[in-house]
Amino acid sequence: MPSPDLVQQLQQLFGIESFRPGQQQAVESILNSKDVLCVMPTGAGKSLCYQLPALIQGGLTIVVSPLISLMEDQVQQLRDRNLPALLLNSSLEARAQREVITALKNGFSGLFYLSPERLFMPTTHALLNSLKPKLLVVDEAHCVSIWGHDFRPEYSRIGQVRQALASPPTIALTATATPEVRADIVHQLRLSDPATIITGFDRPNLSYQCRSFSRPQSKDEELLRIVRASTSGSGVIYCSTRKNVETLAASLSAALPKRSIIAYHAGMNALTRNKNQESFMQSASAVVIATNAFGMGINKPDIRFVIHNNIPGTLESYYQEAGRAGRDGLPAVCTLLFSEDDLKTQSFFIRNIGGQNGESDPAHIAQLRDRAQKKLDSLVRYTVLLQCRRKQIQEYFGDNVTNISDCTCDNCQRDPLKSRKPAAPKVAVSEHETLLIRKMLATIARSERKGPFGVTVLSEVLAGSKSENIRRSELDTIPTFGLLNDYRSIQIVAALHRLISTGLAERRDPNGVKFRPVIHLTGAGIAVMKGLEQVPLGLAGLFPHAGSTKKANTDSPLTEFDLSPEAKLRFDQLRAARTELAREKSLPAFVIMHDSTLRRIAQLAPADLIALGQIKGIGEKKLKLYGEALLRAMRD
Ligand code: ADP
Ligand code: MG
Repeated sequence: MPSPDLVQQLQQLFGIESFRPGQQQAVESILNSKDVLCVMPTGAGKSLCYQLPALIQGGLTIVVSPLISLMEDQVQQLRDRNLPALLLNSSLEARAQREVITALKNGFSGLFYLSPERLFMPTTHALLNSLKPKLLVVDEAHCVSIWGHDFRPEYSRIGQVRQALASPPTIALTATATPEVRADIVHQLRLSDPATIITGFDRPNLSYQCRSFSRPQSKDEELLRIVRASTSGSGVIYCSTRKNVETLAASLSAALPKRSIIAYHAGMNALTRNKNQESFMQSASAVVIATNAFGMGINKPDIRFVIHNNIPGTLESYYQEAGRAGRDGLPAVCTLLFSEDDLKTQSFFIRNIGGQNGESDPAHIAQLRDRAQKKLDSLVRYTVLLQCRRKQIQEYFGDNVTNISDCTCDNCQRDPLKSRKPAAPKVAVSEHETLLIRKMLATIARSERKGPFGVTVLSEVLAGSKSENIRRSELDTIPTFGLLNDYRSIQIVAALHRLISTGLAERRDPNGVKFRPVIHLTGAGIAVMKGLEQVPLGLAGLFPHAGSTKKANTDSPLTEFDLSPEAKLRFDQLRAARTELAREKSLPAFVIMHDSTLRRIAQLAPADLIALGQIKGIGEKKLKLYGEALLRAMRD
């Protein structure tokens, strides 16, 4: 039970009725002069964790926060409640700055917000030396860690500043920190035995979805479909480059002339940016297309969808950006659209690390690149694994995995055990798949003797890459080199991750802290490789069957020419059946089913509803509505 005093203060000072999870513990720890590390999702109410104890205990509290606009908001909100707050940053006029400094020197009691750049200005130094803060607050504390996703060099010196201030009790707050980043925060800020408060990363009202595409065009179609489907709410579409923002904004505006489509990126002038942000905030159904420059400090509760049109660099960024959806607790959808081109863009960013931030130590640059690559791998893993996405996110952030029921992520919706929907068709592992899987396992076994290596290198071996690295390690001499050269590299990476997720292989990190996980076969993997054990059922569908089928069930379109004469015949029968259905339901034919889907069906010639349901383009609804009719058409 919260102590009545604290709740009373909470009501009096902030007009808030009760604490949210974790807040009270943070407040009490500070009042007991303990250091605190507070990890809570965005919007959870981190500010209150330090504002309340700061005001209760009185004296000076220094708050370091990286974003000027956020600081200004907070200071304004405090002042609106008649609470003492000061701000020092470069946007203030000289006279206002002098007034702030005078107030501080005269023993100001309250919250003093300071931008990190300021900490290192000689004048600030002199000022700080004369101050005796009772509390130091480091907001967005992941910025201290080069392992975080938003490292800021100024932040890395806060530890020294803290010592210069005689190490006052300190609270570090962040929304996204993996266990290693957390450890780094504690280390860098030299927190002593901090109370660590981590509240859940689980966001049950968010429905996480991932889709991968080989053609940009199919991606655009999917995007348009999602935006169209959500007429009643506002949404954010994130792109990885400014150019993507502009192209997409133009094409969406053309496709949806009645919808308010707003572009936002750091290359626009501040005036336009503010105007665009304002109109987004005020509209109930606008769609903003933006780079990751958009969203920091934006607290719009009714965002109904966040689409990532390109894959971001890390799961931290993804979670933070996607997490802007559904702040009101109502259902919202977060979709990650993913193609190999995006990976190229991210790889380009990684290769450029060091160049832009003036880093010159080659070993350090190599380390940063390596780390960025691992982060990207983790995100790719998230997109390709068939496990509950909420569970994956909780695991990644080191959260205790809670009992997840009624999850609406795409993977759970496919999983008959978790979904309330009727059981998905049960599939078996085909002979073709069994063979490929055993050969993949053999590839891992062979490469272990030369390495071992991680997922990236192994996927290159399976793809038959002729890279320098592969040749140097003589990996191209493995008999199964190029085994999967017909497959897209994203499919190969996905397949490797699925071997891991079904326990046939595992990732180990021989160097501990270096985080360079390599793949090993497990006992179960060896048994399957040798044919002593069956391939786990969880791997069914890993490789859509042999030959042309493989192509048929990807999103690369089949043309008339791809169809065999028999398939062509089936296609004509299917089209006739579709015409019939369209007439019956008074719907345009393409609404019933696209030609591309009919071609896939014709090519694959599914024998029953189960097989038909596996084909791309046939959702559960279409299967139920038209499945029988289509099968009949092919039998007749
Ligand atoms: P964070 O920094 O964790 O992203 P903020 O501190 O900006 O979140 O708080 C987000 C919103 O939640 C603010 O509008 C704040 O007033 C509100 N809030 C914080 N704590 C509570 C609470 N216990 N009850 C209701 N609203 C709260
Ligand atoms: Mg905050």
